[in-house]
Amino acid sequence: MLLSIVLCLSLITGCDIDNVFQDDNKETRKLIAFDTVIDITLYDVEGGEVFDVLKYWIDRYENKFSTTIETSEISLLNNNSGTFQEVSPETFNLINRAVSAYDMTGGAFDIAVYPIVKAWGFTTDEYRIPSEEELRRLLMFTDSRKIQFKPEDSSVRLLTGMQIDLGGIAKGYIASKLYEKAKEKGVKSGLISLGGNVQAIGSKPDGSSWHIGIQHPDYENDYIGVLSINDEAAITSGGYQRFFERDGKRYHHIIDPSTGAPSDSDVISATVITKDGAMGDALSTAFYVMGSEKAMEFLEDNPQFKAVILTKDNKVLVSEKLKDSFELGERFFLSDLYYI
Ligand code: AMP
Ligand code: MG
Repeated sequence: MLLSIVLCLSLITGCDIDNVFQDDNKETRKLIAFDTVIDITLYDVEGGEVFDVLKYWIDRYENKFSTTIETSEISLLNNNSGTFQEVSPETFNLINRAVSAYDMTGGAFDIAVYPIVKAWGFTTDEYRIPSEEELRRLLMFTDSRKIQFKPEDSSVRLLTGMQIDLGGIAKGYIASKLYEKAKEKGVKSGLISLGGNVQAIGSKPDGSSWHIGIQHPDYENDYIGVLSINDEAAITSGGYQRFFERDGKRYHHIIDPSTGAPSDSDVISATVITKDGAMGDALSTAFYVMGSEKAMEFLEDNPQFKAVILTKDNKVLVSEKLKDSFELGERFFLSDLYYI
């Protein structure tokens, strides 16, 4: 059991920690897309065909949403800022949702930070620290509200010089879509993990909930806690997922759109539990940027979202609604736990 947990954690951020469950009808596949390991586990299906369908959709979305694939629809927009470009309804809708997330989070979630993400070297792994002057110049293009939409012909226009990146929302969106496709194919039980995002399909074959460990950002083999979920996604953002170090200082991949620098709020890990993968993904990124106080205000105003947030001073903030489905990790005391 312990070995299974350790193995599980070392492979992916979140997974079913009771992975010892043996079942002849279990099929798993691992593939790489969006620069991430995707693990799919399905129970009680003739695996082959369903996996082919899911693979088809993963490829399709990657080819539409990727910033690095030159022929993607996002590249089309990024290379032709200033003019309207026709995109598929899926891309149109996802950009639209990303802009709603900007509005809902007071600009903490902003897909137009892409030029800044590039300036720090996160797209090429050739890391550098941009000057304040460079960041100031790039910040002039980061305002998702300036993206224009023409629903009549499904076209989108970026402000001249603007570039966007769906990296903070696409995985959650795709997890929800894969969930729908699997359900359509009759899958009743399974788990899809895309990087920090885990999407549960139904419950375990024996009817019990999936147990998803939320990785501790500072201790790879420890949990903040364990969630019990069915038919929902648990989506985590944290600076530990991608970063570089210079002169003893750590620079991570989540940018505060108000400064252009890696965000430095009191939140060190944010998980959103929801059926709405796209919004959950955008919100977990946003909570990381907003800090705990604003995140708690947001959750109070939008009780349809549930969250687990770890702060720098070791507080674990957990939505009241998760009271019966969250178990605190061993590294914490009950006095660290606050229901919000
Ligand atoms: P996530 O792992 O979902 O938190 O998303 C992080 C990724 O989203 C980064 O690797 C960037 O590509 C992009 N990103 C960084 N900062 C932001 C931000 N403030 N709003 C939206 N996307 C961001
Ligand atoms: Mg996100």
